[in-house]
Amino acid sequence: MAHVKRSVPEEPVKLKVKKGDLVEVISGKDKGKQGEILQALPKENKVIVKGANMMVKHTKDRPSRAPGASGPNNVIKGGRIEKEAPLFASKVMVVCPNCKRPTRVGYDFREGDEKLSRRKFRKCKHPDCGKSIDG
Ligand SMILES: [Zn+2]
Repeated sequence: MAHVKRSVPEEPVKLKVKKGDLVEVISGKDKGKQGEILQALPKENKVIVKGANMMVKHTKDRPSRAPGASGPNNVIKGGRIEKEAPLFASKVMVVCPNCKRPTRVGYDFREGDEKLSRRKFRKCKHPDCGKSIDG
């Protein structure tokens, strides 16, 4: 069957988490695990979290392509590679750097003298904290 391109327009998804954020996994086999976001994939609404959702990849022995390499001894050994697989962004929560609890992310604006100087920032949703996550 021919590959049919989906006609649904791609909506740019704005992730509430970004590279470098400390997050906690809130569902799945790694529930409760905390790690840093290694990569954010807004198009897929996914994130890669250090040490979470590990996948084991097996690689086979393969002949070396090095110049002059030949014979059975010139083989790149296969083996097990552990690698983080992307998680849905909805499965993680940002850990607030102030109160150290996982939180939903809210948005707020910094007050400035003029409207133009107001800047959007992310904040902790715990009512007793409410501090900025972006520092
Ligand atoms: Zn907080």
